[in-house]
Amino acid sequence: TTAASAGNKDLFTVESPSVTYTDDEIKSKYVYRTTSVAKNGDKYVATPKETVYDFKVERKVGKVGMMLVGWGGNNGTTVTAGIIANRRGLTWDTREGPRASNYYGSVVMGSTMKLGTEAKTGKEINIPFHDVLPMVHPNDLVIGGWDISGLNLAEAMDRAAVLEPTLKSMVKKEMAEMKPLPSVYYPDFIAANQGERANNVIEGSKASMAHVEHLRKDIRDFKQSHSLDKVIVQWTANTERYADIIPGVNDTADNLLKAIEQGHEEVSPSTVFAIACVLENAPFINGSPQNTFVPGAIEFAEKHGAFIGGDDFKSGQTKMKSALVDFMINAGIKLTSISSYNHLGNNDGMNLSSHKQFRSKEISKSNVVDDMVEANNVLYKEGEHPNHCVVIKYMPAVGDNKRALDEYYAEIFMGGHQTISMFNVCEDSLLASPLIIDLVIIAEMMTRISWKVDDGKDYKGFHSVLSILSYMLKAPLTPPGTPVVNALAKQRGALTNIFRACVGLQPESDMTLEHKLF
Ligand code: NAD
Repeated sequence: TTAASAGNKDLFTVESPSVTYTDDEIKSKYVYRTTSVAKNGDKYVATPKETVYDFKVERKVGKVGMMLVGWGGNNGTTVTAGIIANRRGLTWDTREGPRASNYYGSVVMGSTMKLGTEAKTGKEINIPFHDVLPMVHPNDLVIGGWDISGLNLAEAMDRAAVLEPTLKSMVKKEMAEMKPLPSVYYPDFIAANQGERANNVIEGSKASMAHVEHLRKDIRDFKQSHSLDKVIVQWTANTERYADIIPGVNDTADNLLKAIEQGHEEVSPSTVFAIACVLENAPFINGSPQNTFVPGAIEFAEKHGAFIGGDDFKSGQTKMKSALVDFMINAGIKLTSISSYNHLGNNDGMNLSSHKQFRSKEISKSNVVDDMVEANNVLYKEGEHPNHCVVIKYMPAVGDNKRALDEYYAEIFMGGHQTISMFNVCEDSLLASPLIIDLVIIAEMMTRISWKVDDGKDYKGFHSVLSILSYMLKAPLTPPGTPVVNALAKQRGALTNIFRACVGLQPESDMTLEHKLF
């Protein structure tokens, strides 16, 4: 444990007959209250319903490794340098004066939640999000990973052109010793313009069991050489094209395995990583938009009870969109069109300048307002939807500082219009890095939470598909057949309230009756 993260002691304890603490566990009995609705002609009958869950949290965090696929990319190098800088408590000079390392932009490390109200003063007591449950500190993560480009992390960080030279010089020595493992490279899946950097690849340009086994061994070796208790893997490599969903190939777990054995060309590198991670029981999160989790991959994870999460980091434009549209539609304003233009100049932008890869991004950016529109049957008739277009252009000069220009056009009272134009400069990798950290911390947390219902005998884990990660992801993957929630406030609510339930606390409520009824 490093200085900055030492003393991971409970900041609070819950005093309640439904919550018990032992050295190893926190156990809570939690009454989950929902409303069951039945349709009766054109009327509804709503019935309050209670389910009693038992939650159990393992308190020992252990030693955690984070392996990144695409470690030598802009995100991979930025998050690595950022963690090293935080670990060492670095301060560096910039033209605006000294800057100190921080975890701004991470929900877990940078935000708080209301614990409750102080009895004596009536004051709200807020605690860092990181303290609600025993979570791993990012400073303690052991970092490794793969890249098809063989540059060491110091050289790759220079190539990324994201961080200040003063900061880079301070972490250079440590970064130079980090070298990505060779990776699987199937050229058909990423843009042809990436070919030049692919000098660190495992032999073979189609999926194979040998590749799965190779990656499994990489994970095991990493775990062993650093004496880790667990490893979380994240795809932050290039956006791949979509894989065609073909019956008999990737529609079921068994077919997918057969397809890998036969070297079928519709199995992507990211899917091969997913399968390897499931077999190693290492949670695997996809930070890019492609359909890594073909139906067969999801079924495979479910069969093994392994955690998966995705898709596509939600860093800039889409995060604003899922907050702004949530606000507009919940304010009763009828949004009628969203036009989203982006231009960016980093390697991600170069890869996305190729049509098939752009198409993956277009799809993941397109559906983000669906649930909010569908939920408002006052403003929108069934099937009615605002116009929505997404454009992405590659402009090398702006580098990692992506520009997102959005116009929101809405109908207001009595035929009037409201137009909101937004210009959002997203320092892309600096926005994505804290998400990578949050995803690792939360996914790791989920490996230590189990539940049972109605005083049942055995505890079990959450569903394989970790939809609790939705806040950080643009096109949230959910258990098959369950709804997708894009509204940002709801996503955050789910995350905080599930964690609160694990220590027997009620959901965050904004009623504050204690300040209204006296
Ligand atoms: P990048 O191009 O700088 O980095 C990607 C890295 O992946 C490169 O170093 C490349 O060599 C490597 N790579 C490609 N194929 C690989 C493979 N099969 N195995 C191992 N490594 C491989 O891109 P970035 O800016 O770091 O973004 C990474 C991904 O995250 C992109 O797909 C991007 O769309 C996605 N994303 C980024 C953001 C953001 O804000 N930065 C937001 C959402 C999604």
